[in-house]
Parts: sequence; C-alpha cells; structure tokens
Amino acid sequence: MTRNTPPAPATLLAQAGHFIDAETRAIVPPIHSSTTFARDQDYALGRYIYSRDDNPTFAQAEELIAGLEGGAASLLFASGLAAASAVFEPLRPDQHVIAPISMYYALQAWLKILTERRGIGLTLVDPTDPKNVADAIRPGETAIVWVETLSNPTWDVADIRALATIAHDAGAILGVDATVTPPLTCRPLDLGADIVFHSTTKYLNGHSDVLGGVLTTAAMDANWTDILGVRKFVGGVMGPFEAWLLLRGMRTLSVRWERASENAMALARHFQSHPKIQAVRYAGLTDHPGHSVAAAQFTGGFGGMMSILIRGGAEAALTVAKSVRLFVPATSLGGVESLIEHRATVEGPGSATPDSLLRISVGIEAVDDLIGDLEQALEKV
Ligand code: PLP
Repeated sequence: MTRNTPPAPATLLAQAGHFIDAETRAIVPPIHSSTTFARDQDYALGRYIYSRDDNPTFAQAEELIAGLEGGAASLLFASGLAAASAVFEPLRPDQHVIAPISMYYALQAWLKILTERRGIGLTLVDPTDPKNVADAIRPGETAIVWVETLSNPTWDVADIRALATIAHDAGAILGVDATVTPPLTCRPLDLGADIVFHSTTKYLNGHSDVLGGVLTTAAMDANWTDILGVRKFVGGVMGPFEAWLLLRGMRTLSVRWERASENAMALARHFQSHPKIQAVRYAGLTDHPGHSVAAAQFTGGFGGMMSILIRGGAEAALTVAKSVRLFVPATSLGGVESLIEHRATVEGPGSATPDSLLRISVGIEAVDDLIGDLEQALEKV
C-alpha cells in the first residue's frame, strides 16, 4: 500500500478486512450463533433481527467479498447451487435465459427442469463466440445471460466484456459464474457483468470442508431486491459456523491461488506433449483457443483447473483415474489437495463431456510429486 491507495486484495484477505474486535481487540472474529437479536428499550431494532435475514458473522464475510469484487453488496448462501439458483428463481413465464452448452452440469440440469416447469425459454449456446449469444438473444424477452469465466469441465473462455454489451443491448443482465477465477485474478463486475457468483465451496474456502455460495451485485437494483427476497423467504442462508470457516479459509486465498496456478502451469506444460495424452485443456497454455482473452481477463494467474484427454477413450482415462496414488479420485475442486475425476462417469448418461476427459484440480503440493504420480498412472495405460 502506498500512502493513499487502498490495501491490495491479498492484504484484505490475510487480515479478514483488517478485523480487530472493538471490545476485546481479538484479531479473529467470534462466531455469532444467535438466531435472534433483541430490541432496545425503545423497542427499536439494531442492524440485525433474525439470522435468516442477516447475521454478523456472515455479514463480515459478505462485506469482505463485496469489497474484493468491487460490488455494491454480497449475499452468502448455504451452497453454490442455492446461490446460483436464487438468480433464476424470480424469473416469470415467457421470459428467456441463455446459458452455455458446456457448464457446471448440475446447474444446467436444474435450469432445464425449472425453465420447462415454468414455461421459461432456455437456449444453450457456445458463448466462446459472442456472436452465438447475439444470435440467440431475444430483446425484451431474454432476462438473463449466464456464463462461466472458464467453463467446467472444458475450460473454454468467455469474453465477459463482449457478452455484457450484447446482454445489455437486449435489456438482459449478465450473470457470471467465476468459481474457478477468484477476484484475485478476475473481477467480472469491472468488465460489465451485473452479478458475479462463486461456489465458495471451492477456491474461496479452499479446504474442502464447507459448502457455500455467494452472489455479488454491481448495483442495488430491482434484481438484487428479488434475490434478497429469495434468500430470506426460501431460506437457503449460510450458517454462522460455515461463514466463520469461510472467513478463515479466505485468509490464505492469495498464496493458495498463486501456488495452484504455478503448479497447474508446470503440469500443463509437462504433459502437453505426452504421447498418451491427446490434449491438455488449460487456459494458461498459449495454444488454448481462448488464451488471448484469458490472458487479458485473468490478470492474476490462470488457476488450478485443467482437463486432460487421454488417448484410448473411456477405458484408458478410467485406468489413469484408478492408478493415481497422490491425486485423490474425488469430485469437487479448488482445495489445497489435488483431485482427479472422470467427469463423464459423474455426469452420467446424456453427458456431453468427452469420455476420454479427466478433470484435474491442481492443489498446492510439491509439483514434482504430482508430475511423478501422473507419469506412473499414465504408464498403466
Ligand atoms: N459452479 C461451478 C463451476 C462448480 O464447479 C460447482 C460445483 O462443483 C458449482 C457451481 C456448485 O456449487 P456447490 O457444489 O457449492 O453447490
């Protein structure tokens, strides 16, 4: 920090927003487990009333995240899906949504159910070419364009600035799932998005031990009022203990992110020309089709998410997944430990994911151990 500039994100994160308890001088916030808050002698309320509306522990995490995203406000939810689905819940029949063909499969599955049930239009497109979104958009009818900064699990890159212009010109909002690119590397609201979403289960918490989701808005507008209503009345709030764990996890986000990004880049480069690997999908590689947009958009590293396509299809990919000794064969991503997963198995019948694809969430281990482990697993094919 020079004399008049605000602290950098890494500083805000490490100090949980420079928390010092006003009364005790404790530097770790307490967990406010109270579900209700008393009125004063004049029967007036303070800031809090009831923990389904708001709670001091999750308010603290929300303020930190809103500041990191450059947003007007943030709201925590009990899981990533509770948060993301709150964006779509206020939709009315005859409105229309655009979402990616390649995206987090469970949210896409829910969008298909919700839109069919309510008579809402849904068009799935490949948003890596903004023209596809422009062609699908219905001015006055499309309410939400939803994209992922990097699509899970193919890691295609969405050009947020271009998509925001297309959405706004048609009267729609742009919602961005930035789960795999935290605000240390990308702030979608600065690029024109209206809502940014993270499954905090992933990088923000980073320790694979607490579910959560967060939405951050660019403006306190009517859409945000609707979303506030969904959280309050549907009730998918985060618990105070989970919010406290999230705050603790976020203190180390900057070093975890840097290390995961370094490890992933080393792994991607090492395996790029491996004879048993058909392709490495990592946005940090210069031969990735979206690399130039990624390099402009992700200013603090490309992160730890990649996929490798194994020569020999499903059987060969599953052999690798079963043969690793250090990589953990489990779903999820963004934790300190490296995970590997055969996505087509998890997504089940109807999955559009190639059956040769293994998704890798690179953690913060010693990178030579990770390289050695994948090498020995590939030898089994
Ligand atoms: N978005 C992305 C990109 C994800 O990878 C996930 C979970 O894997 C989610 C959303 C859903 O988050 P959660 O599992 O916390 O509900």
